[in-house]
Amino acid sequence: MMAATPPAWNLFKQIFAEHWNGFKHSHPRYNTRYYDSLVNKMLGCGDPEQIGSIEYRCLHCGEGKHLVAMSCKSSLCLRCAKVYVDNWVSQVSQMLHEGVIYRHIVLTVPEILRKTFYQQAHAVLSPFMRCGVRCLDDVFSRVSGRALKGGYIVVVQTHGRNGQYNPHLHVIATSGGWDQQAQPWIHLDYIPYSMLRKKWQWHLLTKLRQTVKTSEIRRLVDTCYTRYREGFVTNVQKGDVPTRYQSLARYLAKYVVSPPISLRRIDRYDGQRVTYHYRSHKSERVEWETVAVDTFIGRMVQHVFAKGFQRIRYYGVQATKTFAKLKVLIREAVAKVEGVVKGAVKIIARLTYRQRYQQSTGRDPVRCPHCQAEMGVWKIWHPKYGVIYDELEAIKRGKYASQAPRAAPAGSSGRTVWPTAGGVSVSLPGVW
Ligand SMILES: [Zn+2]
Ligand SMILES: [Zn+2]
Repeated sequence: MMAATPPAWNLFKQIFAEHWNGFKHSHPRYNTRYYDSLVNKMLGCGDPEQIGSIEYRCLHCGEGKHLVAMSCKSSLCLRCAKVYVDNWVSQVSQMLHEGVIYRHIVLTVPEILRKTFYQQAHAVLSPFMRCGVRCLDDVFSRVSGRALKGGYIVVVQTHGRNGQYNPHLHVIATSGGWDQQAQPWIHLDYIPYSMLRKKWQWHLLTKLRQTVKTSEIRRLVDTCYTRYREGFVTNVQKGDVPTRYQSLARYLAKYVVSPPISLRRIDRYDGQRVTYHYRSHKSERVEWETVAVDTFIGRMVQHVFAKGFQRIRYYGVQATKTFAKLKVLIREAVAKVEGVVKGAVKIIARLTYRQRYQQSTGRDPVRCPHCQAEMGVWKIWHPKYGVIYDELEAIKRGKYASQAPRAAPAGSSGRTVWPTAGGVSVSLPGVW
């Protein structure tokens, strides 16, 4: 559920509405029901008629009304991107071990391998994520001289700043790891860059050769060893990252889950060509780019992952089942380690629709503008299932019969409403 519509939203929708059919016919890879449904959902996003709605009413004075369109949650929808980022931040924040210092590490793929990644995305992306983890465990173990298991939250991203295909891994890694034999937590102050680069090269190329067994890949792998003698580009973010625990996840969200081309950055569309701008990492300047409309659509859809693909994964001591088990042990262990700040990671709660709306408009969406009472859910309508919740009907059926009339519960608490007949459950805007 989005509160505000970004300025370039209509332009973005118009581009897809006018050119999606032409695009998919000239690019058969995308001519599938899956992509069609993503595009259709995105085109209907924010329109209550097409996508469904939740109506709030003031049950106190009867005057206040507020209609909220459901969101599409299509991975192609930039309008829903903010919701996605907020959820990501809260999900990741809750998975950080208190007191452990985390680093943000970027593992990249050299240019000559990117085409292979694009063509073989289905086969290589999962092994790609696992081999990032293996590489870091390897580096940690080598540096400390013990068999360490670190904790990693790995996010795969396929786009660079201008929307081109540039697959890389963002890893939120513990600074150090768990010694499985001796059981203490080993904190590592630094990661030697040159070792990381070479290890990453070796792990990535070995995995690639095992995964795609063609002579072309063997040739590419050999070229990579001779051309990149220093290893592949890796980046351990410096500066204040490890010390700003409270906003670590939010800081990372900016890098990790931002859409390929931010909506605010579309400057012009003349029916055939699209002009947009982005901030270049290389020049640190704002760069403009004008591309044919098919290229623009291609730059957006090439970053959509296959159905069901998990682009955020947890490994090692961050893995869900290990996390709970090690939580206490790690907390005790890090408390003894010098230079580690206790209680550093603050859990950031999920923002509800209500909070998000309030953040962007300064107004509480479920507060009645007439009498200031809290409004309640009045009606939920879904284009496929019709009316699935109706407060008026509930009242008629005697919802309040056994007690004095009271205000309906606020819609902000993230309840799931079950209809009395049928089997449809719908998440209210607060759920997310
Ligand atoms: Zn009212
Ligand atoms: Zn949407």
